[in-house]
Amino acid sequence: MAKVKLTVWGLRCERCSHEWVPRDPDEEPRVCPKCKSPYWNRPRKQAKK
Ligand SMILES: [Zn+2]
Repeated sequence: MAKVKLTVWGLRCERCSHEWVPRDPDEEPRVCPKCKSPYWNRPRKQAKK
């Protein structure tokens, strides 16, 4: 069996720095699987419009 390095899109939580690979790359998870934060893809500074 040959080993290959697969490069896939990973996601990183902005809150806990947890990194994971989503099952469906086309669909962003609602929450971080580790800290369950719904703001995993939001930077700490929230720009209020
Ligand atoms: Zn997190």
